[in-house]
Amino acid sequence: MSFSKVLSAAVKGMDIEFVYVEADVSNGLPVFNMVGYLSSEVKEAGERVRTAVRNSGLDFPAKRVVINLSPATLKKRGASFDLPIALAVLAALGQIPAERLRGSLAIGELGLDGSVRKVPGILPIMMEASKENHVACCIVPKENAAEAALVENISVVGVESLEQAVLFLRGKIQLKEVCRKKKNSRVHIVQEPDFADICGQENVKRAAEIAVAGGHNLLLIGPPGSGKTMAAKCLPGILPPVSREESMEITKIYSVMGMLDENTPLITRRPFREVHHTATRAALTGGGLVPRPGEISLAHGGVLFLDELPEFRKSVLEVLRQPLESRMIQISRAHGKYSFPAGFMLVAAMNPCPCGRFPAPECVCTPAQIQGYLGKISQPFLDRIDLCAEASRVKYEDLSAKKRGEDSAEIRRRVCRARKIQQDRYKKTEIRVNAELGSRELKKFCELGSDEQKLMSQAFSILNLTARAYHRIIRTARTIADLDGAEQIRTEHLNEAIGYRVVDKRYWRQQ
Ligand SMILES: [Zn+2]
Repeated sequence: MSFSKVLSAAVKGMDIEFVYVEADVSNGLPVFNMVGYLSSEVKEAGERVRTAVRNSGLDFPAKRVVINLSPATLKKRGASFDLPIALAVLAALGQIPAERLRGSLAIGELGLDGSVRKVPGILPIMMEASKENHVACCIVPKENAAEAALVENISVVGVESLEQAVLFLRGKIQLKEVCRKKKNSRVHIVQEPDFADICGQENVKRAAEIAVAGGHNLLLIGPPGSGKTMAAKCLPGILPPVSREESMEITKIYSVMGMLDENTPLITRRPFREVHHTATRAALTGGGLVPRPGEISLAHGGVLFLDELPEFRKSVLEVLRQPLESRMIQISRAHGKYSFPAGFMLVAAMNPCPCGRFPAPECVCTPAQIQGYLGKISQPFLDRIDLCAEASRVKYEDLSAKKRGEDSAEIRRRVCRARKIQQDRYKKTEIRVNAELGSRELKKFCELGSDEQKLMSQAFSILNLTARAYHRIIRTARTIADLDGAEQIRTEHLNEAIGYRVVDKRYWRQQ
């Protein structure tokens, strides 16, 4: 046998393409030729594979070796083809039985000493492989084995070295199939800031509760030191638990980025991503020659927190507009379009003016300064904020109060109850939370009575609302009604929702 073939896979954005690695060994000039639309990293595999094979105590005779990676239309990148290339060559040389390779998928980077190193994107690859009937077994780096085993219906073998993979394929050693953990048995107890530690600021706490309950976007405005950042950092403590489906969705993104923990790969908590204002557009939305997910995708299913909002470059904020509507981001490249999930809840915090004291009389800024500062946030961006809450200066009575405020666990219980109501209501749809309601669904699920309609028509003209802002008020009111356990949205729910829109009008009205 001088020819053999091994199945492998490539990650392209969040998508997977299967790749066949073919090896042909013949007598002739000893060369190692690789073809099949390869990037330079893949071409370098030749050296790595030859050295790794020799250092694993295996024979590498001086023969003519040709490697082909198909399909030829797909550009192959990265070092993850090292292991399948080595196995294909060894099978073509007759050192491992070729039939053992049939029905197997192999992936992994090789070190010169023959060690097999972890690669990104194992989880989506396993998910795709499990849909293929002909893939029975996957040989993956040991460090990726727990991650691979998150997928059911496929047997996973984790190898530490090329030698181990060879001995396994020769049937010389039994490698225990990685056992599937039912759940992450150890529950991480993370000490998080708790809402009970924030003095006063009841309106901020209430706005945070509503925002999390319905997945709405939240803007906190207030003077420095009023606890906006602290309130935002308390949010993870009231986020509802993730479903298995969401957990896999989130884990898949972190897998592509190679950011999973080796032992407990499954992400079971909603992400909270704080982005610094120096972040570039690519870091935020994803980018690169072959695009990789950015912060907005890493925040999928959780919170994206932007502190000091006006410090962000305007162009960076504007790119958030599209994903805030569509809950995903598309990136175009000459060789194709990529899309990444970006269903995050936006939380932002800002001072009301450069000195931080506006609209109090102590503010020392000129009207032009204030306008310039607030003007960094465009109206279309503001239209995508559902709730705007004002953090006030801490009052002495609140500081000296003996009684602690309500703790996060209590708030989280109410959030979970409201989420359950939404889950039941949207059972037969793709919608998970009120924030995802489209204009058609709004009509169906948020019908208003005549008093409520009258109120909204007044608000529409007095507050000079855009259609987008109008819809956002109704979605927020739906969540407030859900927290209240009310089936119908009533005027008090609408009034509270409108109240959160009035705050931003107070600051931005002048413009
Ligand atoms: Zn000021």
